[in-house]
Amino acid sequence: MALLRRPILMMARSERVKDLVTSMPVSAGIVTSYVAGEETADAVRVTKELVGQGLATTIDYLGEDTTDAAQAEATVTAYLELLQALHEAGLATSAEVSVKLSAIGQYLPAAEAPAGGARVALENARRICRAAANVGTTVTLDMEDHTTTDATLHTLRELRQDFPGTGAVLQAYLRRTEADCHRLAAEGSRVRLCKGAYDEPEEVAFTDRLEVDRSYVRCLRVLLEGEGYPMIATHDPRMIAIARHLVDETGREPGTYEFQMLYGIRPQEQTRLASLGETVRVYVPYGGEWYGYLMRRLAERPQNLSFFLRSLVSRT
Ligand SMILES: Cc1cc2nc3c(=O)[nH]c(=O)nc-3n(C[C@H](O)[C@H](O)[C@H](O)COP(=O)(O)OP(=O)(O)OC[C@H]3O[C@@H](n4cnc5c(N)ncnc54)[C@H](O)[C@@H]3O)c2cc1C
Repeated sequence: MALLRRPILMMARSERVKDLVTSMPVSAGIVTSYVAGEETADAVRVTKELVGQGLATTIDYLGEDTTDAAQAEATVTAYLELLQALHEAGLATSAEVSVKLSAIGQYLPAAEAPAGGARVALENARRICRAAANVGTTVTLDMEDHTTTDATLHTLRELRQDFPGTGAVLQAYLRRTEADCHRLAAEGSRVRLCKGAYDEPEEVAFTDRLEVDRSYVRCLRVLLEGEGYPMIATHDPRMIAIARHLVDETGREPGTYEFQMLYGIRPQEQTRLASLGETVRVYVPYGGEWYGYLMRRLAERPQNLSFFLRSLVSRT
């Protein structure tokens, strides 16, 4: 099954496959099992449900690789509306937001962004961080493929000058990540550690699952021994058990770190950990641009492929 990961991620880049997949109604089971819905109200409703179960959330307005300035602006507007809606529902302190820089301008062509896409993404991220701060919550920058790591970490440094609570994601499959963990394990620094979801070349990434797991544990140790706030993002039972062991070993108190999982994946484990007194935050994606997100989830678990193909066939 692991052999299917790369072909699925490659196939996901085909426009024909994208057209076929996105013609499914969003109600198709496979999409709704990973995505809250298309509207702000869906994200708020799911947050309310999860908070009722003792969980927190981080909400992602779906979209990535935007090359259109109007689309980037619409994404910022969606985040501002979401933060306001969370505030009005009294949920803003239980929910933060996750943002992909490529969705808010990082890849805009020169014609759309004369000062450069990176500048536009930074200014847009600032607007979202300001709105988040105004309602008492924070932003975490998602990490995309390895060509964007330096730019994302640079943007993080800029944002943290005004919004020190801004977090970032590091991917254990990248060979550079242990060094990045050392650099980011400083006081006040929020770092979400995940394994990594993109199709990366061997020069920059571990491709063997066991090597990725070993890297995850090394990085986790660095973060837990450091001064920052580690966000342990994994569904892997072994990584979770090792993390809890390292938490004890490093003398971390509850509230100085948290576990994170994706919406729809191992929900019983999410509530089990919360019932043990752990902080557990669920990553809740919503919006119409679910394609890239869904394909990464399928690539992680090719067993879902048959379910997915059935929902494609029965879409009429
Ligand atoms: C909160 C959060 C934020 C993330 N942000 C990013 C990011 O910014 N950049 C990035 O590259 N990646 C991100 N990821 C994805 C991450 O990199 C992994 O691809 C994903 O979490 C699967 O890895 P795993 O640690 O759960 O371990 P795995 O070994 O892949 O999975 C462990 C177990 O989890 C379950 N599982 C895992 N995936 C699925 C699935 N799709 N469907 C059903 N069950 C599944 C299965 O039981 C599996 O055996 C994020 C993950 C989380 C939890």
